[in-house]
Amino acid sequence: MSDCIFCRIVEGTIESKKVYEDERCLAFDDANPQAPVHALVIPKRHVPSLKDFQDHDIECLGTLLQICRTVAKLKGISESGYRVVTNIGATAGQTVFHVHFHVLGGRRFRWPPG
Ligand code: 5GP
Ligand code: ZN
Repeated sequence: MSDCIFCRIVEGTIESKKVYEDERCLAFDDANPQAPVHALVIPKRHVPSLKDFQDHDIECLGTLLQICRTVAKLKGISESGYRVVTNIGATAGQTVFHVHFHVLGGRRFRWPPG
């Protein structure tokens, strides 16, 4: 069993509320939502963070962003507006070291982020 929380969600040994799934990627609701809509989009393969992708992973990166768009549509926030965020490293706020894109919406957001 993996010691990575998100790998365990992929394996099914930790439960999650799935929003979208295909062969290579998964999206599920965040356990501690920061907005009315807060989902996470991940590759099933363990990659620690955005900086760890290789040049040949560009297609996977495009797919992950496309899934963020799909999740926004499925959640009904595509037209009202939403935010896509990925934290890279602890200083930026990353707490789970399996790359993920946050899809947040359903309320107004401030800029710059805290
Ligand atoms: P980070 O701080 O790394 O950018 O984001 C990690 C996110 O994962 C947080 O928003 C946190 O609430 C979420 N999270 C942590 N553990 C779990 C879990 O077991 N299940 C789900 N669904 N979300 C989790
Ligand atoms: Zn992992």
